[in-house]
Amino acid sequence: MPVVFGGKRNVYLAIEEYKSLAPFIMEFVKRVESYGASIKMDNTVPVYMFSKEELGELLLKGVLEPSRNFVCFPAIDIGPDLPIWRCFGTSGLFNRKMEDFNSLQEIYDYYERVFKPYQFKVFPMEECHECEYAKKEICQGGCIGFFPSQMYKDRLPSSRVD
Ligand code: SF4
Repeated sequence: MPVVFGGKRNVYLAIEEYKSLAPFIMEFVKRVESYGASIKMDNTVPVYMFSKEELGELLLKGVLEPSRNFVCFPAIDIGPDLPIWRCFGTSGLFNRKMEDFNSLQEIYDYYERVFKPYQFKVFPMEECHECEYAKKEICQGGCIGFFPSQMYKDRLPSSRVD
């Protein structure tokens, strides 16, 4: 996932290429199971990257959970000098100070409000705009971090994984 922070960019897989990652994930889940372990995915992924059969298997096994992996909520990160941001994927945007707020709930409500326009109205892929899951706000089309990353792409060194 892309992280734009302090004028720098990390290495990440382009959202358009997530679909090609699905076979690796399905195989990885099998390997993990063969060791008697279980696995859960972190962060959001676009629903479209898996087939319906793959989605069914991953949901039944608890690898994916719609409330965690198709829509995300503010994680709230706090830096050493008490700056705050929504999550690592959006860490260069809407940064504030802890002292601007009276409670964690206020911080949470603030980041819910300021990122709402990015969450279900600005999608990283064209096909999301016509998708039934997007219209019902079941899927936000992957990490919100893809949007600022695309916005700043002309100003930052390219570092996506090809
Ligand atoms: S925007 Fe990205 S990094 Fe932030 S919580 Fe959502 S999926 Fe995670």
